Formats: sequence, structure tokens, C-alpha cells
Amino acid sequence: MSGLEDLYREIILDHYRNPRNRGELPSPPAVRAEGFNPLCGDEVVVTFEVDGDGGCISDVKVAGQGCSISQSSASMMSAAVKGRSTDEARALVKAFKALMTIHESRLGGDGEGDGSGTDTPVPDPDVALGDLEALQGVVRFPVRIKCATLSWNALTNALDEVEAKAS
Ligand code: ZN
Repeated sequence: MSGLEDLYREIILDHYRNPRNRGELPSPPAVRAEGFNPLCGDEVVVTFEVDGDGGCISDVKVAGQGCSISQSSASMMSAAVKGRSTDEARALVKAFKALMTIHESRLGGDGEGDGSGTDTPVPDPDVALGDLEALQGVVRFPVRIKCATLSWNALTNALDEVEAKAS
């Protein structure tokens, strides 16, 4: 199992050192949302542009600073939603939150297992999380869950704004 954990650590560090889609898009026209995690001091700024009819996220940038978990999660998030429809982006948010929540509920469980994750439930088989699965180890450190979900909450706020504008 340590092999898998090493792989996950590598993926997280890779996104931290080489963040994808780094920067900020001019807003407007881009939608902009900020997130701040006072527990850890993490900041993220999510900006993205949505194409007209299709509601496709044509470009996305992430800025900010903070711990490796918050920044690598933001980088993975940007890579995962770029080119997706806003509906697909929401499905990803849901799947990622499920990944965090399922583990969160397991933390208070009966203490079985060693946390190696061999029986990890899959939140939604229809949504491929890819690199994001590397973050599932975070749930063993509940205080870091907010780091991991920070950029996703900002994305959700921005998606809400897009829909409010569209309606
Ligand atoms: Zn953090």
C-alpha cells in the first residue's frame, strides 16, 4: 500500500510544484470567486470563462497561495474542469466532495483497518476523478479537508453566479 501512497504523494507534489492553469483571467468577462481557509491561511482565486450556449468552461485559471494540499487540489480542479460543461463541473464537485465526505464519516467509525484504503468506496462510478483520487489520503487529517475542498467551494460559488446570470 505504501507504493500507492508514494504515488499519491508524487501526484500532489507535482501539482504543487508545477501548478496547472496558474494565473487569473480578466474579470469580467471571466467569472471570479475567492476562497479563504482561516484554519490554514490558504487562499485561492478561481477565474473561468464559459462559452455561450454550450455552457462549456473554455478557460480556467487559479491563483492564490497556501499549503501543498490547497494549491495542488486547486491545480487538479482546474485541469479537471477545463473544457467541461458546467453540469460536468458540478458533477465533479459532487464526486470530489463525496470522496472527502465518505472518508470523513469513516473517521469516526469502529477503528477497523489501517487506513490503507483497500476497501475505499467509490463515490460515483460515472465520474472519473483521475489525479484527484490522490487527495483521498487527506481525509485521515480532518483539518486538511478544508484545504482540499477550498478551491472546489470557490468553483461552486462561481458556477452559482454563472447560473444566476443565465436565468
Ligand atoms: Zn491548507
